[in-house]
Amino acid sequence: MINYTERITLLMQDVVERTPRLSFIDLGEVVVFGRHGRTDAEGAFATCHCLTLPESEPGYYFWRDRTTGELTRRSEWFVTKSPHVRVGRTTIKYLISFVLPRFCDQSLERSRKFDLYPPDAPPWIAKLDTIVHELYHIDPEESGIRRVSRSDGSNSPRSHGPLFYEEVALMVKGYLASAPDPSLVEFLQHDFDGLTARHGGVVGTTFRNFPSFPQRYMERVNMPSGDPIVKIEPLKPPTQPVLYTEDDLHVRQFTEGSARRLARKGQHRAA
Ligand SMILES: [Zn+2]
Repeated sequence: MINYTERITLLMQDVVERTPRLSFIDLGEVVVFGRHGRTDAEGAFATCHCLTLPESEPGYYFWRDRTTGELTRRSEWFVTKSPHVRVGRTTIKYLISFVLPRFCDQSLERSRKFDLYPPDAPPWIAKLDTIVHELYHIDPEESGIRRVSRSDGSNSPRSHGPLFYEEVALMVKGYLASAPDPSLVEFLQHDFDGLTARHGGVVGTTFRNFPSFPQRYMERVNMPSGDPIVKIEPLKPPTQPVLYTEDDLHVRQFTEGSARRLARKGQHRAA
């Protein structure tokens, strides 16, 4: 079977080496993983998740009386934090997820990127564009997700603008013009059914708590209470891990309808 997230990681390594604007990226600090999403459903193809965002300011939820507007109850104070992900001794700074099988079936014709490429561009270039797009979200200043500057130099609150897409397309064209080893991009030329027929299945890295994955969580903090006496609702404790290691990375096989974990190497199944 083809390990799709591994192939993407190998391709990313080559892209980063050949693209000066992405050369600061250390892929040892990035984990590529799969999420499940059907081809015929709406949704993202891929997402860049930052794990280096600082802890939030303390806050709480509150409820008001509808008629008087008075504060009736509030939650405990909390901060929002990123979980830690460690692989060996390396602290992971970014996760990049690909939605399978949807990503495998992405094609240029039906995409907003269509106008950014020449008419004879191969349809699978849309997938390479998505891979470079997610890498471009990694911020050289390590402050989270790359901010997009407006033409006046101020920061746009949106992380994408038309310029972002154009710059990604330029990097994709530059990469292909550098004559990369065709075997590195070959897997992008097949859709999900094509890959399944060729390789007998598509597998990828996932987290143990699939379909979940490391996400921001709330942690209770003690704060002096300046509020009038109101009822305080306890916060629910986190339901997902706050620390992940390589033991939490599981390989799963993706199908159109689901993903299932593969047996570990050396694990015996009763016949
Ligand atoms: Zn994006």
